[in-house]
Amino acid sequence: MGGGALMDLGLQDKVAWVLGASSGLGKASAQILANEGAHVAMSARDEAKLEAAADKVGGSAFPLDVKDGEAIISTASAIEERFGGFDILVANAGGPPPGTFDSFDDDALYDAFTLTTASAWRATKAVLPSMRARGGGAIVYITSITTKEVVDGLLLSNMMRAAVVGMMKTLARELGPDNIRVVCAAPGHHDTPRVQQLDEARSKAEGKPVDEIRARMASSIPLGRLGDPLEFGNAVAFLASPAASYISGVSLTIDGGQLRSISM
Ligand code: NDP
Repeated sequence: MGGGALMDLGLQDKVAWVLGASSGLGKASAQILANEGAHVAMSARDEAKLEAAADKVGGSAFPLDVKDGEAIISTASAIEERFGGFDILVANAGGPPPGTFDSFDDDALYDAFTLTTASAWRATKAVLPSMRARGGGAIVYITSITTKEVVDGLLLSNMMRAAVVGMMKTLARELGPDNIRVVCAAPGHHDTPRVQQLDEARSKAEGKPVDEIRARMASSIPLGRLGDPLEFGNAVAFLASPAASYISGVSLTIDGGQLRSISM
């Protein structure tokens, strides 16, 4: 490790699979990985939207509902056939619905588990044989700042993402000997289509202009603004890259300094 060299992320020709990749944080992560020279397989449900995103990013579309365990296996096989294997997995999907304990039944519980926790587990299972055969890899689970500080009204997200962090910590230990690094990227507030929708809903509910809602959120963040999804993508690409070769078992918050907790 000589001093003074320019940092090269070392992503050229790596094979990355990004789930939830047609919009927002997943798409931005795919974009930066592709910009850095990786072959990026992108998955999400809406095929037309995914094709458009893959065109823009310079990736390849592999439509998939992450709640479908068999589809995860068959999609992983198709990607492996096309690109020869996996170096990077970025596991992501839409978040579970908001609500409190009284508002959910067992079906909602299992649905959120399947969407957030089981999808990360299953995608990991699907890529592991290839990563082991290639002598290593990197797995990034996109989670949320709710894994560091619970958010009221987001019970299912608070629960299911915490389970992903537990899995990440355990897998970092179990897979280290295989040279596979496992981390979480925990976003604070980023200006994605989903967040724009939520802001509009909040604006209607409160009868206040959407600009006021967004200014209030921005003022609660030390950097004074929401994150650009590409700023999040930069962090994911770094974590997934050989430049982060000694980083494993961590959950990195990307939130403009928003969280107050000192136990990170
Ligand atoms: P977006 O809604 O903008 O993007 C979500 C992506 O996931 C889309 O590509 C969507 O495509 C895909 N997706 C959703 N459900 C599934 C599914 N069942 N199977 C496959 N793909 C799916 O969300 P964001 O980028 O804003 O957020 C990404 C994740 O990060 C979410 O879990 C969110 O809760 C979390 N997060 C986001 C924050 C933010 O500030 N943006 C803050 C904290 C957490 P399609 O619908 O076509 O499948």
